[in-house]
Amino acid sequence: MNLFEIIKRLFSKKPQLPLADDMVTQTSDPQMALKILGMLEKTQEEELTCDDVFALLDQFTEMAARGEDVAELMPLVKLHLDICGDCREEYEALLNVIQHPA
Ligand SMILES: [Zn+2]
Repeated sequence: MNLFEIIKRLFSKKPQLPLADDMVTQTSDPQMALKILGMLEKTQEEELTCDDVFALLDQFTEMAARGEDVAELMPLVKLHLDICGDCREEYEALLNVIQHPA
């Protein structure tokens, strides 16, 4: 096999998204399988888009700055910030402005 073949193989190999079925069949622990399924379902049902988060970010940040339990009050925004670097950056910038007004 020459280098070109290797490169062609590398690029033709599409990254496979883990599907629930695969994850379940790969684990032998039924409790774990249920947990994974639950996590996937939860993610699909409750996930906010970046637009949703941006719309709530002012409010969320002010609450966080006041020391309110935002993880309890706005868990979906908190969840999104945990997984989305762009929104987290925006949040941290906003928080910085609120905590250190010019
Ligand atoms: Zn986002």
